[in-house]
Amino acid sequence: MSITQTPVPALCPQCHSRLADEGGELPWCERCEWNLAFRAPDPALGRFTDRQERWAHRIGYRLDADLFTKLSGHPLTRPGTTAVSAALTAVSVLVIGILLGLAVGGLWLVVAGPFLLKLIGVIMIGCALLCRPRLGRVAPLREKYDELSRTGQPELFALIDRVAAAAGAPVPDLVLLSPEWGASAAVLGLRRRRVLTLGLPLWSSLRPQERVVLLAHELGHFVNNDNRRSLRTQPALAFFGDVAELLSPLRRLVEEDDEEPVAAFARLGQSALGQLLWPAARAAWLVHVLLHVLGARDAQRAEYHADDTAARIGGTTATGSLMDVVACGHLHRTVVGSRARGGARAAGWREAVEQTRAALEPRLGRLRQLTRRRDASPFSSHPPAGLRHRMAVTQPYRSAQVVLTEAAAERLDAELAGFEEGYRRVIAASW
Ligand SMILES: [Zn+2]
Ligand SMILES: [Zn+2]
Repeated sequence: MSITQTPVPALCPQCHSRLADEGGELPWCERCEWNLAFRAPDPALGRFTDRQERWAHRIGYRLDADLFTKLSGHPLTRPGTTAVSAALTAVSVLVIGILLGLAVGGLWLVVAGPFLLKLIGVIMIGCALLCRPRLGRVAPLREKYDELSRTGQPELFALIDRVAAAAGAPVPDLVLLSPEWGASAAVLGLRRRRVLTLGLPLWSSLRPQERVVLLAHELGHFVNNDNRRSLRTQPALAFFGDVAELLSPLRRLVEEDDEEPVAAFARLGQSALGQLLWPAARAAWLVHVLLHVLGARDAQRAEYHADDTAARIGGTTATGSLMDVVACGHLHRTVVGSRARGGARAAGWREAVEQTRAALEPRLGRLRQLTRRRDASPFSSHPPAGLRHRMAVTQPYRSAQVVLTEAAAERLDAELAGFEEGYRRVIAASW
């Protein structure tokens, strides 16, 4: 497949079909996928960062395509321990060794060294703290989102129990409801607590059987050997990114939960010292990409396996249609946002999403393909929705093992109705 940056012709140079044109997107060939791998330059990023990002994008695109080719047409078995996860574990052990060395050495200098060395000791301890492995914390999530309970939402928990039993997965320790478009499963903290988070807008916009698929995919993460959720590989996958962030003069200021000292280091990054550290930052970033490229195959394999579990439990049809909702998520969010501003709650969001789904139907093939361009990155947590859709519908057809009727779905909605107005206001203000 060739890729071009030169002016785009009206017909595909490879197969002479008419090129697809989706508002604002670079044209590509729907039939032979010519130019699909190419992402437009983003001048806002600056020349160097843009080139670096496009390079990572190309690698991500290639990874997606290679893994899909390798897995499609075969049964999706549970990912086992691979050479890659063994290598990532070894790097993690090394990283922990380095961090412990820095912390202990720093402490020793602070206690026993002369003044100047004490200062270096403090810096060493600071670096070790800033690059420490993150186990994730349950408390901030609990504060941010609403916790659901067996007494408050008995029908929802009964469904979770059924899906977990069918998936052979443990039930989550904590179920949270968020005003976001999405759902996630995480294992957090020293106690490795399993947390399931459901975004109400997505959840309530889905058709009943798609909700079963969504739950099954998320619970599938508790049993699919996913290296991005594993304690063994997390230090390797995070450390070099942290180092690159610390050293980089180009880094964007920390947006999320990072502590103050990180921002201080960021300012340092803009100074002359930052320029000196630049090559080291780039080297750390390269190692970071390399480890993610190594880990991405296993991680994506784990995602496909979670999708396969979901198809087995919720059925092939609903898995395919859920992937289409995911592929068009940005469009659905927009209509839900505008409905929320008009005062509509969950029933209105669902109606808007259904209307959008009908309107998008003729463009679906192209929108699925576009996810491959949009989501290509060695850092993406999931394979592009378009490939997940194709993988699901090309596996042998499966009917649903756990069925959720319309009436049961309505009872689930009723259990969550109390959250709708509060979330509607959040969505109206921010989407
Ligand atoms: Zn073509
Ligand atoms: Zn997933």
